[in-house]
Amino acid sequence: MDRRLIRTAVFGSPDSDEPALCPETPEELDAFRREHEDVTIWCGTMFEGGCGRQLMTRRCTDKICHFAHYGSGGEGHQCGRKERGKDSADHLFAKAHLASWLRELGIAAEFTYPEPRGSAVVIRLEDGRSLLVHLDRNRPVAWNNEAWETILGPGVRMAPGVLAQRGYVHRIRFDDRPEGGRTMQFGTELPGEGTTWGSLVDAVLTPENLLHTTKPAAIHAPAPAVQQVTAPAGRAIVTVAPSTAHTASVARQADSVRRALLRLDIALRDHPRGVLPAVETIRRLLEADQEPHEAARLRIALGRGERWLEERARRRRAVVERLQERPAPELYRQAAELMKDPDASAEEREIVAAVEARARRVQEQERAAREQERAARREAEDRERAERRATAEREWAERAERRAAEKAEAKERSVLQARVEKAQKLAPAVRGALKKAAREQRTTTWSEIQQKTGLHQLGRLDHEDKVELLSLVESDTAPDTPLWSALLAADGDSAALRLHRDVSHRLSRPLPPNDADLINQLAAERTQLHRPW
Ligand SMILES: [Zn+2]
Repeated sequence: MDRRLIRTAVFGSPDSDEPALCPETPEELDAFRREHEDVTIWCGTMFEGGCGRQLMTRRCTDKICHFAHYGSGGEGHQCGRKERGKDSADHLFAKAHLASWLRELGIAAEFTYPEPRGSAVVIRLEDGRSLLVHLDRNRPVAWNNEAWETILGPGVRMAPGVLAQRGYVHRIRFDDRPEGGRTMQFGTELPGEGTTWGSLVDAVLTPENLLHTTKPAAIHAPAPAVQQVTAPAGRAIVTVAPSTAHTASVARQADSVRRALLRLDIALRDHPRGVLPAVETIRRLLEADQEPHEAARLRIALGRGERWLEERARRRRAVVERLQERPAPELYRQAAELMKDPDASAEEREIVAAVEARARRVQEQERAAREQERAARREAEDRERAERRATAEREWAERAERRAAEKAEAKERSVLQARVEKAQKLAPAVRGALKKAAREQRTTTWSEIQQKTGLHQLGRLDHEDKVELLSLVESDTAPDTPLWSALLAADGDSAALRLHRDVSHRLSRPLPPNDADLINQLAAERTQLHRPW
């Protein structure tokens, strides 16, 4: 068997001393998990080197089931547990059984675990006496210790002669329970007779003795030297009526009574869901034939369990009522926990389920509302972003358009400027040529003027240049006299007529709209220009 497998642990918290033993088979582990589903399991500090981290159960089919640290493959982390085998929690099991036994007897006791942890348990009774349970198989038993009585653990050997000298030795031993945990037996070894085993329930603690009722006669009181710290004289700490006929079946019965009482104890302390099954077990045991003192103990325990169940049912009803009136998360949490009780009624469960459904619906609605709000916000943001982008694009386009317009305007201005400058340069010569043609009673053409003046630029003028040029030429022509440039339009071709119309328009001189009238007017004006000067 793999010695590194962790077989033992504690329930509830890292510093708990309530022992846990992992069952070996998967089937037993399943039962164990069901029974302890709401209890945590720890690598307890009550173990020598225990790291205090939480453990889980590992269900294995190729090897025995075992505990394992969370977040590890079982290795590679810091855990100093020295002993991991199934005996390694014997000190805790011994304490649990002895504590329960003393509680049943009504005796207060304080337990300590001497170092190294696991080697022993010391029980200090309220009257000052103490019991030492020696569990360390590797160290000799110190019989001269301060304890009033010493009990040996499983497999602890004695030096030769000790038994004969003492006359008896008390021992304990453990057996696995299939569903996890260990039962404990209490026995007394007598010289030449071996050990008689029985339930711890059969042990009696008197002011003088720790007796095993199956072997009462043979046992002497512990050594007088130690007896100095005994109870006040005459005070019987407890008396348990010794039974007369302890057959094997009675012993078995006593064992099941013990287990049932222990189970109720544990359930009442920290496993609420276990109370009802524990009470039912006690009821079943009471239906069978029991020794009178066992029956009495069972009845007392039953009363305790039933009172607890009634109180629990009252609390359940109260919580459910309050939850119905005014649901609140804390109340719901409590109710949900209480609904795990096996005896919670169908009606209670229905009410809590309805409250839960309602709460879930409200939550769902709130979540949907939040989601909607978020979506609306996102949409608004998107819209705003798009608007900002559109504005920026529009502004950019407007700026570009403005720049282009400015550029076009500047270009136009410079074209106009060039045209005006050109016209100013050419105007005097063209005016002279036109006046000369008038004097000589001729008409003329652009090419003739170019020829006569020698101005080659005239051949490169476009329509607009010509309008500009002739407007300048005529700038000081009197309004009531014909334009000199009428001589250029004399042959009446369409380009010449258009030029004449545009120049007249610039100079605000009205013209007949149709070309025939214009041609007539031009003929009249030519005659006027040809008069002798
Ligand atoms: Zn550990």
